[in-house]
Amino acid sequence: MNFRSTRSNECVSPSFALLHGLAQDGGLYVPETFPENVLSYSELAGKSYQDIAAVVLSYFFTNFTAEERKQMIASAYNDTTFRDDRIVPLHSIDTDLSISELFHGRTLAFKDLALSLFPYLLTAAKKQEQEDRQILILTATSGDTGKAALEGFKDVDGTNIMVFYPSEGVSPMQKQQMQKQEGANVRVSAIHGNFDDAQSFLKRVFTNKEVNAYANENNVLFSSANSINIGRLFPQVAYYVSTYVNLVDNGAIDEGEPFDVVVPTGNFGNILAGFFAKKMGVPIHQLICASNKNNVLSDFFKTGVYDMNRQFYMTDSPSMDILLSSNFERFLFYVAHEDSAQVFQWEKDLQDTGKMAVSAEALAELQRQFAGGWIDDDETEAVINHVYNDFGYLLDPHTAVAYGVYLNRHKQGLDEGRHTVIMSTAHPYKFPPTICKALALPPQEDPFAMLEEIQAITSMALPKPLQELKNKPVRFSDAIDKENMKSAVLSFVDAIAKA
Ligand SMILES: *Cc1c(COP(=O)(O)O)cnc(C)c1O
Repeated sequence: MNFRSTRSNECVSPSFALLHGLAQDGGLYVPETFPENVLSYSELAGKSYQDIAAVVLSYFFTNFTAEERKQMIASAYNDTTFRDDRIVPLHSIDTDLSISELFHGRTLAFKDLALSLFPYLLTAAKKQEQEDRQILILTATSGDTGKAALEGFKDVDGTNIMVFYPSEGVSPMQKQQMQKQEGANVRVSAIHGNFDDAQSFLKRVFTNKEVNAYANENNVLFSSANSINIGRLFPQVAYYVSTYVNLVDNGAIDEGEPFDVVVPTGNFGNILAGFFAKKMGVPIHQLICASNKNNVLSDFFKTGVYDMNRQFYMTDSPSMDILLSSNFERFLFYVAHEDSAQVFQWEKDLQDTGKMAVSAEALAELQRQFAGGWIDDDETEAVINHVYNDFGYLLDPHTAVAYGVYLNRHKQGLDEGRHTVIMSTAHPYKFPPTICKALALPPQEDPFAMLEEIQAITSMALPKPLQELKNKPVRFSDAIDKENMKSAVLSFVDAIAKA
Protein backbone atom coordinates (compact mmCIF):
# COMPACT_ATOMS: atom_id res chain seq x y z
CA MET A 1 0.00 0.00 0.00
CA ASN A 2 1.38 3.37 -1.00
CA PHE A 3 0.01 6.78 -0.15
CA ARG A 4 -0.67 9.64 -2.56
CA SER A 5 -1.26 13.33 -2.08
CA THR A 6 -4.77 14.79 -2.17
CA ARG A 7 -3.44 17.52 -4.49
CA SER A 8 -1.39 15.54 -7.05
CA ASN A 9 -0.29 12.05 -8.03
CA GLU A 10 2.79 12.24 -5.81
CA CYS A 11 3.11 8.77 -4.32
CA VAL A 12 5.19 7.62 -1.32
CA SER A 13 5.65 4.63 0.99
CA PRO A 14 3.82 4.48 4.36
CA SER A 15 7.12 5.04 6.20
CA PHE A 16 7.85 8.19 4.19
CA ALA A 17 4.33 9.50 4.81
CA LEU A 18 4.62 8.73 8.53
CA LEU A 19 7.92 10.56 8.78
CA HIS A 20 7.02 13.62 6.75
CA GLY A 21 3.36 14.11 7.63
CA LEU A 22 2.45 16.53 4.87
CA ALA A 23 3.00 15.94 1.11
CA GLN A 24 5.55 18.13 -0.72
CA ASP A 25 2.75 19.86 -2.62
CA GLY A 26 0.98 20.82 0.63
CA GLY A 27 -1.63 18.09 0.26
CA LEU A 28 -2.44 15.28 2.69
CA TYR A 29 -1.57 11.64 2.19
CA VAL A 30 -4.39 9.22 1.36
CA PRO A 31 -4.21 5.52 0.39
CA GLU A 32 -3.38 5.07 -3.30
CA THR A 33 -6.13 2.43 -3.48
CA PHE A 34 -8.61 2.44 -0.64
CA PRO A 35 -9.39 -1.02 0.82
CA GLU A 36 -13.17 -0.97 0.23
CA ASN A 37 -15.53 -3.44 1.93
CA VAL A 38 -12.83 -5.69 3.29
CA LEU A 39 -14.24 -6.16 6.81
CA SER A 40 -17.09 -8.34 8.04
CA TYR A 41 -18.48 -9.11 11.49
CA SER A 42 -17.89 -12.86 11.21
CA GLU A 43 -14.17 -12.29 10.75
CA LEU A 44 -13.98 -9.90 13.70
CA ALA A 45 -16.26 -11.58 16.25
CA GLY A 46 -14.52 -12.63 19.44
CA LYS A 47 -11.41 -10.56 18.74
CA SER A 48 -9.86 -8.27 21.33
CA TYR A 49 -9.38 -4.55 20.66
CA GLN A 50 -5.72 -5.26 19.94
CA ASP A 51 -6.59 -8.00 17.43
CA ILE A 52 -9.09 -5.72 15.69
CA ALA A 53 -6.49 -2.95 15.50
CA ALA A 54 -4.06 -5.47 13.96
CA VAL A 55 -6.59 -6.32 11.24
CA VAL A 56 -7.29 -2.65 10.47
CA LEU A 57 -3.63 -1.62 10.40
CA SER A 58 -2.69 -4.53 8.13
CA TYR A 59 -4.45 -2.73 5.28
CA PHE A 60 -2.52 0.52 5.68
CA PHE A 61 0.90 -0.14 7.19
CA THR A 62 2.03 -2.86 4.83
CA ASN A 63 5.62 -1.65 5.25
CA PHE A 64 5.79 -3.41 8.63
CA THR A 65 5.49 -7.15 9.23
CA ALA A 66 2.46 -8.60 11.02
CA GLU A 67 4.74 -9.34 13.97
CA GLU A 68 6.03 -5.74 14.05
CA ARG A 69 2.50 -4.35 13.96
CA LYS A 70 1.45 -6.73 16.73
CA GLN A 71 4.34 -5.62 18.93
CA MET A 72 3.55 -1.93 18.42
CA ILE A 73 -0.13 -2.51 19.20
CA ALA A 74 0.75 -4.44 22.36
CA SER A 75 2.96 -1.56 23.52
CA ALA A 76 0.27 1.02 22.75
CA TYR A 77 -2.84 -0.61 24.20
CA ASN A 78 -2.24 -2.34 27.53
CA ASP A 79 -3.00 -1.98 31.22
CA THR A 80 -0.39 0.70 31.83
CA THR A 81 -1.65 2.93 28.99
CA PHE A 82 -5.41 2.30 29.36
CA ARG A 83 -7.51 2.04 32.51
CA ASP A 84 -10.03 -0.39 30.97
CA ASP A 85 -8.91 -3.69 29.51
CA ARG A 86 -11.54 -3.41 26.78
CA ILE A 87 -9.68 -0.21 25.69
CA VAL A 88 -12.88 1.29 24.18
CA PRO A 89 -15.88 0.03 26.20
CA LEU A 90 -19.43 0.53 25.02
CA HIS A 91 -21.95 2.04 27.44
CA SER A 92 -25.62 1.42 26.76
CA ILE A 93 -27.98 4.34 27.52
CA ASP A 94 -31.16 2.71 26.21
CA THR A 95 -32.27 0.49 23.32
CA ASP A 96 -31.82 3.34 20.81
CA LEU A 97 -28.57 4.79 22.04
CA SER A 98 -25.06 3.71 23.05
CA ILE A 99 -21.95 5.62 23.98
CA SER A 100 -18.54 4.47 22.82
CA GLU A 101 -16.07 5.58 25.49
CA LEU A 102 -12.83 6.71 23.90
CA PHE A 103 -11.40 8.35 27.02
CA HIS A 104 -9.74 5.63 29.06
CA GLY A 105 -6.16 6.41 28.03
CA ARG A 106 -3.42 8.28 29.88
CA THR A 107 -4.71 11.80 29.22
CA LEU A 108 -8.43 10.99 29.37
CA ALA A 109 -9.22 12.05 25.81
CA PHE A 110 -9.75 10.07 22.59
CA LYS A 111 -6.46 11.42 21.24
CA ASP A 112 -4.74 8.75 23.37
CA LEU A 113 -6.00 6.04 21.04
CA ALA A 114 -3.91 7.39 18.19
CA LEU A 115 -1.07 8.93 20.16
CA SER A 116 -0.31 5.82 22.20
CA LEU A 117 0.52 4.03 18.96
CA PHE A 118 1.89 6.85 16.81
CA PRO A 119 5.36 7.11 18.47
CA TYR A 120 5.97 3.42 17.68
CA LEU A 121 4.88 3.84 14.07
CA LEU A 122 7.03 6.93 13.72
CA THR A 123 10.21 5.53 15.26
CA ALA A 124 9.86 2.33 13.19
CA ALA A 125 9.39 4.45 10.06
CA LYS A 126 12.45 6.50 10.99
CA LYS A 127 14.52 3.32 11.11
CA GLN A 128 13.08 2.07 7.83
CA GLU A 129 13.87 5.35 6.11
CA GLN A 130 17.42 5.22 7.57
CA GLU A 131 16.82 8.60 9.10
CA ASP A 132 19.52 9.35 11.67
CA ARG A 133 18.55 12.89 12.58
CA GLN A 134 16.76 13.65 15.85
CA ILE A 135 13.05 14.11 15.26
CA LEU A 136 11.39 17.23 16.59
CA ILE A 137 7.62 16.93 16.73
CA LEU A 138 6.00 20.36 16.46
CA THR A 139 2.39 20.46 17.55
CA ALA A 140 -0.29 23.08 17.99
CA THR A 141 -3.11 21.95 20.21
CA SER A 142 -6.62 23.04 21.09
CA GLY A 143 -6.16 21.20 24.40
CA ASP A 144 -6.13 17.43 24.16
CA THR A 145 -3.77 16.63 21.29
CA GLY A 146 -0.82 18.32 22.95
CA LYS A 147 -1.09 16.41 26.19
CA ALA A 148 -1.69 13.07 24.47
CA ALA A 149 1.29 13.69 22.16
CA LEU A 150 3.49 14.73 25.09
CA GLU A 151 2.60 11.54 26.97
CA GLY A 152 3.11 9.42 23.87
CA PHE A 153 6.54 10.87 23.01
CA LYS A 154 7.86 11.57 26.50
CA ASP A 155 11.39 10.10 26.75
CA VAL A 156 11.10 8.15 23.47
CA ASP A 157 14.63 7.78 22.07
CA GLY A 158 15.51 9.83 19.01
CA THR A 159 12.44 12.05 19.38
CA ASN A 160 11.68 15.44 20.93
CA ILE A 161 8.40 17.27 21.15
CA MET A 162 7.33 20.87 21.41
CA VAL A 163 3.72 21.85 22.00
CA PHE A 164 2.00 25.23 21.63
CA TYR A 165 -1.45 25.85 23.08
CA PRO A 166 -3.69 28.94 23.20
CA SER A 167 -3.16 30.47 26.64
CA GLU A 168 -6.84 31.32 27.17
CA GLY A 169 -8.31 28.63 24.93
CA VAL A 170 -7.97 25.51 27.07
CA SER A 171 -9.69 24.34 30.25
CA PRO A 172 -7.92 24.87 33.62
CA MET A 173 -7.34 21.12 33.89
CA GLN A 174 -5.93 20.93 30.37
CA LYS A 175 -3.63 23.83 31.24
CA GLN A 176 -2.33 22.03 34.32
CA GLN A 177 -1.84 18.86 32.29
CA MET A 178 0.29 20.86 29.86
CA GLN A 179 2.23 22.93 32.39
CA LYS A 180 3.13 19.94 34.55
CA GLN A 181 4.34 17.71 31.72
CA GLU A 182 7.30 15.47 32.55
CA GLY A 183 10.05 14.19 30.27
CA ALA A 184 13.55 15.33 29.28
CA ASN A 185 12.70 15.69 25.57
CA VAL A 186 9.65 17.97 25.87
CA ARG A 187 8.93 21.72 25.69
CA VAL A 188 5.55 23.35 26.16
CA SER A 189 4.56 26.95 25.56
CA ALA A 190 1.32 28.87 25.75
CA ILE A 191 0.72 31.50 23.07
CA HIS A 192 -1.40 34.64 23.12
CA GLY A 193 -4.01 33.89 20.47
CA ASN A 194 -6.46 31.15 19.56
CA PHE A 195 -5.89 27.64 18.22
CA ASP A 196 -6.15 28.66 14.55
CA ASP A 197 -3.41 31.27 15.20
CA ALA A 198 -1.19 28.66 16.85
CA GLN A 199 -1.79 26.22 14.02
CA SER A 200 -1.20 28.64 11.16
CA PHE A 201 1.91 30.24 12.72
CA LEU A 202 3.33 26.81 13.40
CA LYS A 203 2.65 25.73 9.82
CA ARG A 204 4.66 28.77 8.70
CA VAL A 205 7.59 27.82 10.92
CA PHE A 206 7.29 24.23 9.76
CA THR A 207 7.54 25.10 6.08
CA ASN A 208 10.07 27.95 6.44
CA LYS A 209 13.15 27.06 4.35
CA GLU A 210 15.68 28.81 6.59
CA VAL A 211 14.30 27.27 9.74
CA ASN A 212 14.41 23.83 8.13
CA ALA A 213 17.96 24.39 6.89
CA TYR A 214 19.01 25.47 10.36
CA ALA A 215 17.42 22.35 11.88
CA ASN A 216 19.13 20.17 9.29
CA GLU A 217 22.56 21.68 10.09
CA ASN A 218 21.85 20.74 13.68
CA ASN A 219 20.86 17.18 12.77
CA VAL A 220 17.18 17.77 13.54
CA LEU A 221 14.19 16.86 11.36
CA PHE A 222 10.78 18.44 11.96
CA SER A 223 7.74 16.22 12.08
CA SER A 224 4.19 16.66 13.27
CA ALA A 225 1.84 14.80 15.57
CA ASN A 226 -1.21 16.71 14.37
CA SER A 227 -4.11 14.69 13.12
CA ILE A 228 -3.07 15.07 9.48
CA ASN A 229 -0.42 12.35 9.92
CA ILE A 230 -1.50 8.92 8.62
CA GLY A 231 -0.11 7.48 11.87
CA ARG A 232 -2.74 9.45 13.77
CA LEU A 233 -5.62 8.84 11.44
CA PHE A 234 -5.65 5.13 10.62
CA PRO A 235 -5.28 3.80 14.18
CA GLN A 236 -8.57 5.62 14.89
CA VAL A 237 -10.42 3.45 12.37
CA ALA A 238 -9.99 0.52 14.77
CA TYR A 239 -12.34 1.90 17.43
CA TYR A 240 -15.18 2.31 14.93
CA VAL A 241 -14.70 -1.32 13.96
CA SER A 242 -14.56 -2.47 17.59
CA THR A 243 -17.63 -0.37 18.39
CA TYR A 244 -19.54 -2.19 15.65
CA VAL A 245 -18.48 -5.56 17.03
CA ASN A 246 -19.51 -4.48 20.55
CA LEU A 247 -22.91 -3.28 19.31
CA VAL A 248 -23.65 -6.66 17.77
CA ASP A 249 -22.31 -8.52 20.81
CA ASN A 250 -24.51 -6.38 23.12
CA GLY A 251 -27.57 -7.11 21.00
CA ALA A 252 -28.02 -3.39 20.23
CA ILE A 253 -28.00 -4.22 16.50
CA ASP A 254 -27.93 -7.37 14.36
CA GLU A 255 -24.94 -8.32 12.29
CA GLY A 256 -24.80 -6.00 9.26
CA GLU A 257 -27.59 -3.74 10.58
CA PRO A 258 -26.98 -0.07 9.77
CA PHE A 259 -26.46 2.37 12.65
CA ASP A 260 -25.77 6.09 12.94
CA VAL A 261 -22.75 7.64 14.61
CA VAL A 262 -22.59 11.13 16.10
CA VAL A 263 -19.09 12.58 16.41
CA PRO A 264 -18.14 15.77 18.28
CA THR A 265 -15.97 17.35 15.62
CA GLY A 266 -13.17 19.90 15.42
CA ASN A 267 -10.32 19.07 13.07
CA PHE A 268 -12.38 16.35 11.34
CA GLY A 269 -9.94 13.56 12.24
CA ASN A 270 -12.23 11.44 14.37
CA ILE A 271 -15.23 11.54 12.03
CA LEU A 272 -12.98 10.91 9.02
CA ALA A 273 -11.79 7.69 10.66
CA GLY A 274 -15.48 6.77 10.94
CA PHE A 275 -15.91 7.45 7.23
CA PHE A 276 -12.94 5.17 6.49
CA ALA A 277 -14.42 2.44 8.72
CA LYS A 278 -17.66 2.77 6.72
CA LYS A 279 -15.73 2.44 3.45
CA MET A 280 -14.02 -0.67 4.82
CA GLY A 281 -17.37 -2.32 5.48
CA VAL A 282 -18.68 -1.23 8.88
CA PRO A 283 -22.46 -0.74 8.34
CA ILE A 284 -22.64 2.91 9.37
CA HIS A 285 -25.71 4.54 7.83
CA GLN A 286 -24.90 8.19 8.53
CA LEU A 287 -22.05 10.02 10.20
CA ILE A 288 -23.33 13.05 12.04
CA CYS A 289 -20.89 15.88 12.47
CA ALA A 290 -21.66 17.67 15.74
CA SER A 291 -20.33 21.20 16.24
CA ASN A 292 -20.45 23.83 18.94
CA LYS A 293 -21.10 27.49 18.06
CA ASN A 294 -18.07 27.34 15.71
CA ASN A 295 -20.41 25.57 13.31
CA VAL A 296 -18.50 25.89 10.04
CA LEU A 297 -18.60 22.13 9.43
CA SER A 298 -22.20 21.46 10.36
CA ASP A 299 -23.16 24.37 8.08
CA PHE A 300 -21.18 22.74 5.28
CA PHE A 301 -23.18 19.54 5.59
CA LYS A 302 -26.38 21.57 5.29
CA THR A 303 -25.38 23.94 2.48
CA GLY A 304 -22.33 22.53 0.69
CA VAL A 305 -20.50 25.79 1.43
CA TYR A 306 -17.48 25.88 3.74
CA ASP A 307 -17.18 29.47 4.86
CA MET A 308 -14.55 30.49 7.37
CA ASN A 309 -15.46 34.17 7.20
CA ARG A 310 -17.23 34.22 10.52
CA GLN A 311 -16.66 35.06 14.14
CA PHE A 312 -14.60 32.69 16.25
CA TYR A 313 -16.09 31.71 19.62
CA MET A 314 -14.52 30.26 22.74
CA THR A 315 -16.90 27.62 24.06
CA ASP A 316 -17.34 24.98 26.75
CA SER A 317 -15.96 22.43 24.28
CA PRO A 318 -12.55 24.00 23.53
CA SER A 319 -11.16 21.08 21.54
CA MET A 320 -13.79 21.86 18.92
CA ASP A 321 -13.12 25.62 18.75
CA ILE A 322 -11.71 25.40 15.23
CA LEU A 323 -12.64 27.10 11.97
CA LEU A 324 -10.05 25.54 9.67
CA SER A 325 -10.39 21.77 10.03
CA SER A 326 -7.10 20.31 8.91
CA ASN A 327 -8.41 16.88 7.91
CA PHE A 328 -11.32 18.21 5.90
CA GLU A 329 -9.21 18.20 2.73
CA ARG A 330 -9.04 14.39 2.89
CA PHE A 331 -12.81 14.23 2.98
CA LEU A 332 -13.03 16.63 0.01
CA PHE A 333 -10.74 14.26 -1.91
CA TYR A 334 -13.44 11.58 -1.67
CA VAL A 335 -16.24 14.06 -2.37
CA ALA A 336 -14.31 14.83 -5.57
CA HIS A 337 -14.08 11.09 -6.37
CA GLU A 338 -10.31 11.23 -5.87
CA ASP A 339 -9.85 14.05 -8.40
CA SER A 340 -6.82 15.92 -7.07
CA ALA A 341 -7.21 18.83 -9.53
CA GLN A 342 -10.64 19.52 -8.03
CA VAL A 343 -9.23 19.36 -4.49
CA PHE A 344 -6.44 21.72 -5.50
CA GLN A 345 -9.02 24.23 -6.79
CA TRP A 346 -11.18 24.00 -3.65
CA GLU A 347 -8.14 24.48 -1.42
CA LYS A 348 -7.11 27.48 -3.51
CA ASP A 349 -10.59 28.97 -3.11
CA LEU A 350 -10.33 28.46 0.64
CA GLN A 351 -6.93 30.10 0.77
CA ASP A 352 -7.90 33.04 -1.46
CA THR A 353 -11.39 33.77 -0.12
CA GLY A 354 -11.81 31.70 3.06
CA LYS A 355 -14.63 29.93 1.32
CA MET A 356 -15.31 26.98 -1.00
CA ALA A 357 -18.42 25.27 -2.33
CA VAL A 358 -19.23 21.88 -3.78
CA SER A 359 -21.76 21.34 -6.58
CA ALA A 360 -25.43 20.59 -5.85
CA GLU A 361 -24.94 16.99 -7.05
CA ALA A 362 -21.93 16.51 -4.81
CA LEU A 363 -23.89 17.91 -1.87
CA ALA A 364 -26.81 15.55 -2.47
CA GLU A 365 -24.40 12.63 -2.66
CA LEU A 366 -22.54 13.47 0.52
CA GLN A 367 -25.76 14.13 2.43
CA ARG A 368 -26.66 10.47 2.00
CA GLN A 369 -23.71 9.61 4.19
CA PHE A 370 -23.28 12.71 6.38
CA ALA A 371 -25.37 15.18 8.32
CA GLY A 372 -24.46 18.06 10.59
CA GLY A 373 -25.88 19.76 13.65
CA TRP A 374 -24.77 22.11 16.39
CA ILE A 375 -25.74 23.37 19.84
CA ASP A 376 -24.51 26.29 21.97
CA ASP A 377 -23.06 26.32 25.50
CA ASP A 378 -26.39 26.77 27.29
CA GLU A 379 -27.81 23.73 25.54
CA THR A 380 -24.60 21.80 26.22
CA GLU A 381 -24.90 22.46 29.95
CA ALA A 382 -28.60 21.54 29.88
CA VAL A 383 -27.74 18.24 28.17
CA ILE A 384 -25.11 17.40 30.80
CA ASN A 385 -27.66 18.11 33.52
CA HIS A 386 -30.44 16.11 31.85
CA VAL A 387 -28.33 13.03 31.06
CA TYR A 388 -26.85 12.99 34.55
CA ASN A 389 -30.24 13.31 36.22
CA ASP A 390 -32.10 10.87 33.97
CA PHE A 391 -29.42 8.21 33.43
CA GLY A 392 -26.81 8.84 36.15
CA TYR A 393 -24.23 9.23 33.39
CA LEU A 394 -21.88 12.21 33.38
CA LEU A 395 -20.93 13.57 29.94
CA ASP A 396 -17.94 15.76 29.15
CA PRO A 397 -18.89 18.98 27.28
CA HIS A 398 -17.67 17.70 23.88
CA THR A 399 -19.66 14.50 24.17
CA ALA A 400 -22.62 16.57 25.39
CA VAL A 401 -22.53 18.55 22.13
CA ALA A 402 -22.88 15.28 20.24
CA TYR A 403 -25.61 14.14 22.59
CA GLY A 404 -27.54 17.38 22.10
CA VAL A 405 -27.28 17.05 18.33
CA TYR A 406 -28.55 13.46 18.65
CA LEU A 407 -31.52 14.59 20.78
CA ASN A 408 -32.50 17.22 18.20
CA ARG A 409 -32.36 14.64 15.41
CA HIS A 410 -34.22 12.08 17.46
CA LYS A 411 -37.03 14.57 18.20
CA GLN A 412 -37.38 15.20 14.48
CA GLY A 413 -37.38 11.46 13.72
CA LEU A 414 -34.27 11.78 11.56
CA ASP A 415 -32.74 8.63 13.02
CA GLU A 416 -35.72 6.66 11.61
CA GLY A 417 -35.51 4.08 14.40
CA ARG A 418 -31.86 3.25 13.75
CA HIS A 419 -29.55 2.67 16.69
CA THR A 420 -27.23 5.61 17.31
CA VAL A 421 -23.75 5.60 18.81
CA ILE A 422 -22.22 8.71 20.29
CA MET A 423 -18.45 8.87 20.23
CA SER A 424 -17.44 10.09 23.69
CA THR A 425 -14.17 11.94 23.32
CA ALA A 426 -13.18 12.95 26.85
CA HIS A 427 -13.59 12.14 30.52
CA PRO A 428 -15.93 14.69 32.19
CA TYR A 429 -13.35 15.38 34.92
CA LYS A 430 -11.13 17.15 32.40
CA PHE A 431 -13.66 20.00 32.38
CA PRO A 432 -14.65 20.80 35.98
CA PRO A 433 -15.91 24.39 35.49
CA THR A 434 -18.47 23.38 32.87
CA ILE A 435 -19.57 20.31 34.81
CA CYS A 436 -20.00 22.42 37.97
CA LYS A 437 -22.06 24.94 36.09
CA ALA A 438 -24.19 22.26 34.45
CA LEU A 439 -24.88 20.55 37.79
CA ALA A 440 -25.50 23.92 39.51
CA LEU A 441 -22.56 23.48 41.92
CA PRO A 442 -20.89 26.61 43.34
CA PRO A 443 -17.92 27.81 41.27
CA GLN A 444 -14.37 27.54 42.70
CA GLU A 445 -10.95 28.83 41.63
CA ASP A 446 -9.09 25.54 41.78
CA PRO A 447 -10.17 22.82 39.31
CA PHE A 448 -9.33 20.12 41.86
CA ALA A 449 -11.61 21.76 44.44
CA MET A 450 -14.36 21.67 41.82
CA LEU A 451 -13.69 17.99 41.22
CA GLU A 452 -14.17 17.33 44.91
CA GLU A 453 -17.60 18.95 44.72
CA ILE A 454 -18.51 16.91 41.66
CA GLN A 455 -17.25 13.72 43.26
CA ALA A 456 -19.25 14.39 46.40
CA ILE A 457 -22.49 14.10 44.44
CA THR A 458 -21.56 11.62 41.68
CA SER A 459 -19.30 9.28 43.71
CA MET A 460 -17.35 8.84 40.48
CA ALA A 461 -13.70 8.11 41.34
CA LEU A 462 -10.93 10.51 40.36
CA PRO A 463 -8.95 8.79 37.57
CA LYS A 464 -5.33 8.10 38.47
CA PRO A 465 -3.78 10.48 35.90
CA LEU A 466 -5.65 13.38 37.56
CA GLN A 467 -4.86 12.21 41.10
CA GLU A 468 -1.17 12.28 40.20
CA LEU A 469 -1.39 15.57 38.34
CA LYS A 470 -2.58 17.41 41.41
CA ASN A 471 0.73 17.19 43.25
CA LYS A 472 3.14 17.57 40.35
CA PRO A 473 5.16 20.80 40.03
CA VAL A 474 4.56 23.30 37.23
CA ARG A 475 7.41 23.10 34.68
CA PHE A 476 6.21 25.28 31.81
CA SER A 477 4.44 28.52 32.67
CA ASP A 478 5.60 30.72 29.71
CA ALA A 479 3.12 32.46 27.45
CA ILE A 480 4.63 34.02 24.30
CA ASP A 481 3.41 36.10 21.37
CA LYS A 482 2.77 34.05 18.29
CA GLU A 483 5.45 36.00 16.40
CA ASN A 484 7.95 34.43 18.80
CA MET A 485 7.07 30.84 18.01
CA LYS A 486 9.89 30.66 15.48
CA SER A 487 12.57 31.68 17.95
CA ALA A 488 11.13 29.28 20.54
CA VAL A 489 11.49 26.44 18.03
CA LEU A 490 15.03 27.50 17.10
CA SER A 491 16.09 27.61 20.72
CA PHE A 492 14.81 24.06 21.25
CA VAL A 493 16.73 22.96 18.13
CA ASP A 494 19.89 24.40 19.76
CA ALA A 495 19.17 22.53 22.99
CA ILE A 496 18.64 19.25 21.12
CA ALA A 497 21.89 19.75 19.19
CA LYS A 498 23.79 20.29 22.44
CA ALA A 499 22.22 17.30 24.24
C1 LIG B 1 -9.78 16.71 19.58
C2 LIG B 1 -11.08 16.57 20.24
C3 LIG B 1 -12.27 16.65 19.51
C4 LIG B 1 -12.29 16.93 18.03
O1 LIG B 1 -11.77 15.83 17.29
P1 LIG B 1 -11.34 16.04 15.78
O2 LIG B 1 -10.71 14.76 15.37
O3 LIG B 1 -10.37 17.18 15.78
O4 LIG B 1 -12.57 16.35 15.01
C5 LIG B 1 -13.46 16.47 20.19
N1 LIG B 1 -13.48 16.25 21.52
C6 LIG B 1 -12.36 16.18 22.25
C7 LIG B 1 -12.46 15.97 23.71
C8 LIG B 1 -11.11 16.33 21.64
O5 LIG B 1 -10.00 16.25 22.37
